[in-house]
Amino acid sequence: MNERIYLDNNATTALDPKVFEAMCFDLCQLPRNPSAIHSFGQEARNELTRARRGLASSLGVLPDEILFSSGASESNNYLLRGFFEKIFPKKVITTQVEHSSILKNVQNYEKSGGRVTFLPIDERGAPQVEDLEKEIDAETGLIVVMAANNETGVKTDIEAFAKLAKEHSVPLCVDGVALMGKEPVKILDGITAMSFSAHKFHGPKGVGFAFLSSEYELSPLIIGGGQENGRRAGTQNLSGILGLCKAVELLGTLLPTETKRMEALRDYFEAELKRQLKGIFINGTDARVCNTSSIAFEGIDGESLLMALDLKGLACSHGSACISGSVAPSRVLSEMGLKLDRVNASIRFAMSRMTTQNEVERAIQIIVQSVNEIRELG
Ligand code: PMP
Repeated sequence: MNERIYLDNNATTALDPKVFEAMCFDLCQLPRNPSAIHSFGQEARNELTRARRGLASSLGVLPDEILFSSGASESNNYLLRGFFEKIFPKKVITTQVEHSSILKNVQNYEKSGGRVTFLPIDERGAPQVEDLEKEIDAETGLIVVMAANNETGVKTDIEAFAKLAKEHSVPLCVDGVALMGKEPVKILDGITAMSFSAHKFHGPKGVGFAFLSSEYELSPLIIGGGQENGRRAGTQNLSGILGLCKAVELLGTLLPTETKRMEALRDYFEAELKRQLKGIFINGTDARVCNTSSIAFEGIDGESLLMALDLKGLACSHGSACISGSVAPSRVLSEMGLKLDRVNASIRFAMSRMTTQNEVERAIQIIVQSVNEIRELG
């Protein structure tokens, strides 16, 4: 009954036991380098090939268009630096609500003399295709956007972005991290590159991948050996990759029901908080992924609420995990034009396919009690 509740699944998720099982043989049993020519190596290489093929077919792409990496930060760095080198100093169109692994690379591109345009973001939470239409021109070298925002869960209309990018023959690079695990993902026509991270969908930490269309060749970020077709040096993290691919395979069978269940649970959570508390605002008004609630509690300091909730056994977050520990107000919510009071009063709750109705019921009780206590003191 007093077990802790974890609603910080956009920071990371629990490893699925089936994923652990898929990793175990490689992790625990045999020394296997997929590049080695002996039988141990051959077996490892065959498993790597099978895993890559399965992943590629579930996404609707070619196996050679998948490049395994240490996670989405690395994938984003590889893709952006590679594209920037190709297109410099042409215009990059992006937004200010991207993950820092995108934003910092874009800022460096701008500092080195490249052109950058940030699409406007408002309280809806995602860039709009009409604004892209105004900006895209013959000088545009790359479009970089996230499929869903990790703080608010608001989705970008990637289909419309991809269509427009294709019409103008501009490469489109998409950060798919906050989308995978929430709903089925296919690489749409018009998407040139996309990054993902296994630990956001019940896979292991420290492994991810990039999709890169076979029409493009980019300079490697890590040079050395010829692994990943010479595009990423270093012995592959085979156990991690097998875990990642198992985690994607599980999504194929679970998501048709889990997306709806998570969405119903999230909607119930928000409706109950609105019913039981005054001054509750949901951040982001455009369509959202099924698991994320960014909620402002009027008159409450988010840091204090976060600590009160943690003391009662409920884990959630104030902004994204990558910048937590700092008291800087959420960049994403600020960019959406929300007032500082509301930004500071906001908490992110993120469910997963492992979150239960019972946990959500208990979370609601804990939140209502904590908010009431803080409001009474104030
Ligand atoms: N993009 C987004 C939207 C993210 O939320 C994260 C992780 N917080 C990353 C990229 C980076 O992923 P990784 O942890 O695999 O480096």
